[in-house]
Amino acid sequence: MATNNNAVYGDTHFFGDVCKNFDYAAQFTKHDAGLLDQIKSCNSVYRFRFPIRKGNGFEVIDAWRVEHSHHQSPTKGGIRYSDMVNEDEVMALAALMTYKCAIVNVPFGGAKGGIRINPKNYTVQELENITRRYTVELAKKNFIGPSIDVPAPDYGSGEREMSWIADTYATMNPGQLDALGCVTGKPIALHGIAGRREATGRGVAISIRECVSVGEDMQKLGLTPGISGKKVIVQGLGNVGYHSAKFLAEFGALIVGLCEYEGAIYNPDGLDIDAVFNHRKATGSILGYAGATQEFKNSGEGLEQPCDILVPAALENQITSENVGRIKAKIIAEGANGPTTPEAEAAFYEAGGIIIPDMYANAGGVTVSYFEWLKNLSHVAFGRMNRRFEENSNLNLVNMVEGITGVSLTPVQRATIIKGASELELVNSGLEDTMIRSYHEIRETYKNNSKIDTLRTAAFVGAINKIAVSYQNLGVWP
Ligand code: NAD
Repeated sequence: MATNNNAVYGDTHFFGDVCKNFDYAAQFTKHDAGLLDQIKSCNSVYRFRFPIRKGNGFEVIDAWRVEHSHHQSPTKGGIRYSDMVNEDEVMALAALMTYKCAIVNVPFGGAKGGIRINPKNYTVQELENITRRYTVELAKKNFIGPSIDVPAPDYGSGEREMSWIADTYATMNPGQLDALGCVTGKPIALHGIAGRREATGRGVAISIRECVSVGEDMQKLGLTPGISGKKVIVQGLGNVGYHSAKFLAEFGALIVGLCEYEGAIYNPDGLDIDAVFNHRKATGSILGYAGATQEFKNSGEGLEQPCDILVPAALENQITSENVGRIKAKIIAEGANGPTTPEAEAAFYEAGGIIIPDMYANAGGVTVSYFEWLKNLSHVAFGRMNRRFEENSNLNLVNMVEGITGVSLTPVQRATIIKGASELELVNSGLEDTMIRSYHEIRETYKNNSKIDTLRTAAFVGAINKIAVSYQNLGVWP
C-alpha cells in the first residue's frame, strides 16, 4: 500500500508536492504499486543536533542528512545552509536528486543535507567548526564516503565548505585512497574539477537554449525560435542565478530583470550582469544600480515584469497560485529546486506557458559533480593522458594535408585544429551533451503521449522507468 507522506511527516508541503508530481506521473507507467512506493519513499532520514562554541557560550545546531534512494551507490546531493531549512525540505530535495540523477543518467541515488543556520550570522571560524562537526556526525553514522553518500554545495554553501568536509573526512580515514571523493564541488587545488562552480548555471542556460531552439514549440508560445534577443528575468544572483544569467547573455539573450531578496531591478534594453554583481558587492544591494530604468523594493514584483523567460534561481515556492497570474513570461526555467507550486504550474500551462522543470534544468551541477567524483576515483585529471598525444596526431595530419595540397593554414587556423582538449573543455562538452540529450528525451515523452501535459510529468515518467529498471536489475523486484 502506498505511504501517505503527509500523515507520516506532519505538516509537509515541499515533499508532499514532489510526491504529488510523482503520483501523477506514475499513472503513465506500468509498475507495481509497491515498487512505485519504494521509489517514492525516503529510505533514510538522519536528524541530529550538535553543540558549537559561539561567543562565550554554546549553541545547539539542528542538522539533517536524507538518503532518499539506494537503488544506486553512492547517494548524492548538496548541503543547504539556511535558517529556514527543515526536515520536509531536505526530504523533498533528496527525492528530487534521485529523479534528477536518473534524468541525466548519472549513476547515483538521491540525497540532501541541511544545517539550520543563517551563515551570515557566524564567523568563518564558527562556520568551519559547524561544517567539520557536521561531517564528523555524518561519518559516525556512515552517512558519508566516496562509495556511500557524497555531499556537494547547495544554497548557502560553496567550495570553502566542501574543502572543510573533504579535509575532515580524509583526516578521519587515514590511508583511504579515495577519501577526497567523499564530497564534490571542492576547489580545484583540493582535487575539484574545472567548470564545477559554474556548471549548474551553464546547464540552466543550455536547457533554455535547447528549449527555444525547437521552432514548433516556440510557434505555440508565440515566440520566434532561437535564444538571440530573448528577454530574461533571473531571480537570485547567487551561484546558479549569476551563472545562468551570464551564460544566457553569452548565448545572445537579453537579461532585462534581476531580483534579489532586497528588491529587483529592470531595464527592457538589458542589464550588465557583472556590473550589477559588482554594484551589489560594493553597496550590499542591487538597488541603486545606475543602469536600471525601474527598481522595486518588493522583490516579488520583479518577477512580474515583461519578459519571455523567467529563471527562478533562489529558493522554492516563489511562483504560487497567488502570483502566477501576473507572470508575463511564456517560459519558466527552474534554476532553483521547487520554485513553482503544482497549482501554479497547472495555471501557467493553462495560460499557454511551459516550464522547464528543476529536476532537469538544474542537473548540470550533479552532472559535473559526477565528473569530479570520477576524477577523484581515477586520481588523474581529464585530458592529462591524451592531450599532448592528440595535439601531436593533429599536427601530423595538418602537416601531411598541407604537404599534399600545397595550401598553408594561418597560424590561428593551425592552432585551432591542432589543439588537444583541456579538462574544462571536456567537462563543458560532457555537460552540454548531457543537457541536450536529456532535453530531447523528456520532450519526446511529452510529445508522444497526449495525456502527459507537462515537461515535468514527462521528466518524472522517464526517471521512474529508469529507477524501476535499476531495482529490477538488482533483483529486488521481479
Ligand atoms: P546561493 O546561496 O549561491 O544563491 C542564492 C541567492 O538567492 C542568494 O544570492 C540569495 O540572496 C538569493 N535569494 C534568497 N532569497 C531570495 C528571494 N526571496 N528573492 C530573490 N533572491 C533571493 O545558492 P545557489 O547554490 O545558487 O542555489 C539556488 C537554488 O538552486 C537552490 O534552490 C538550490 O537548491 C538550487 N541548486 C543549486 C545547485 C548548485 O550547484 N549550487 C545545483 C542544483 C540546484
